[in-house]
Amino acid sequence: MHVPTHPASRTAYAGLVARESGRRPILLSCHDCALPQVVPPLRNGVIAACLRCNATLRRSSADPMNIVLALSLGAAVLLAVGSVTVIAVVQAIGQRRPAFLVSGPIALAQSGLWELSVLVVFTTVIAPAVSTGLLLYTMVGLRLGRGFPFLQGAFAWRNRLRPWSMIEVFLVGYFVAYSKLGALVYMQIGAGFFALFGFMILTIATDASLDKQSVWEAIERVAPMVLPPGAAARADTLQPEPISCPTCALACHPSAAAASCPRCSTKLHRRKPDSLARTAAMAMSGLILYAPANTFPVLTVIKLNQGSPSTILSGVWELLGAGQVLLAVIVFLASVAVPVLKLLGLGVMLFVAIRGRSTHLRQLSSLYRVVATIGRWSMIDIFMESILAALVQFGGAATIYPGSGALAFAAVVVFTMFAAESFDPRLMWDKATR
Ligand SMILES: [Zn+2]
Ligand SMILES: [Zn+2]
Repeated sequence: MHVPTHPASRTAYAGLVARESGRRPILLSCHDCALPQVVPPLRNGVIAACLRCNATLRRSSADPMNIVLALSLGAAVLLAVGSVTVIAVVQAIGQRRPAFLVSGPIALAQSGLWELSVLVVFTTVIAPAVSTGLLLYTMVGLRLGRGFPFLQGAFAWRNRLRPWSMIEVFLVGYFVAYSKLGALVYMQIGAGFFALFGFMILTIATDASLDKQSVWEAIERVAPMVLPPGAAARADTLQPEPISCPTCALACHPSAAAASCPRCSTKLHRRKPDSLARTAAMAMSGLILYAPANTFPVLTVIKLNQGSPSTILSGVWELLGAGQVLLAVIVFLASVAVPVLKLLGLGVMLFVAIRGRSTHLRQLSSLYRVVATIGRWSMIDIFMESILAALVQFGGAATIYPGSGALAFAAVVVFTMFAAESFDPRLMWDKATR
């Protein structure tokens, strides 16, 4: 359920400076369009959406602390189990080959694609483990009360790392690998797969029950920041607009530009620094690499000493030929359509931010949110290749090598993710309202 917010008024502002609990109205400056608004006290399970651009300003939860503590504890246990147990076993020519979560990256490094290996380890092992660990640390710290060090940093880094934790994308890649192997070798699902699947469910449940605003307010009560005088200011005036902290969303006084947030000590900027130049550079790099990503082979399958390299598109055709229509559609959308749509979307948003336009800004803000969320799903193909390279090593009988196209493709995914992260959607509204 969505509830409307109120435009911020001067009296509302003054009353909001001394906020205490999540049950009071709070002042927020929209992260997507910069409109200052008062979010009323929310009932459980309610989303407060921005008046102007429909961005989610706050999502309330019945019991944000205890549920999230329990879920992240469960997720940490399942991830630990999933990381050390076998996720798949393949059999061919009388041999058995088990694979663990790290077997893929090891196989990629052995094939000389160490950059890809680092990316897969980061997104499937390091980011999930560290972000879950940091959330657990924050929740335990809040539960135990005063005196836990580094709570602000822990929660800030958990939120920054969350988009790079890609177990859910990895599991889709696993299914694609599973259906590709059917014709080549016999593959069995291992216990580690079920642990990772459970981890994915608990992570989704955590995201749904996490009320970040409540957590930041609880951190503020338990571990107040000690900043030098004048280093930061609260929002206590409406003119000009308050500066929203990029980490904890606290609305800060405009004079705090180039100072630090009083709640989490993040450096404050009115807009993301050098947003347009950075976004353009990253998007351009992604566009240039899109050509080699689609023309060089992403993997080579050797069967009975006969090798056949395949590109992303020919992989889609193979899935179609094998009758796996749904998987073919998923891989096509994730690997071919999503990067193109992201690059086109970034181009349109850059154009609007530079040239300005006063219509369809609400839709353009939605486009920004879509571009920022879908990019990670393009990693399906990379994870699939990593699993295949780890599992299918039976010499001339059946072997799969990852190809250099995969490296270019991974670079496209990473560059476009960085481009979306560097883009500041508020610039489109600035240009229109100035
Ligand atoms: Zn907005
Ligand atoms: Zn902050």
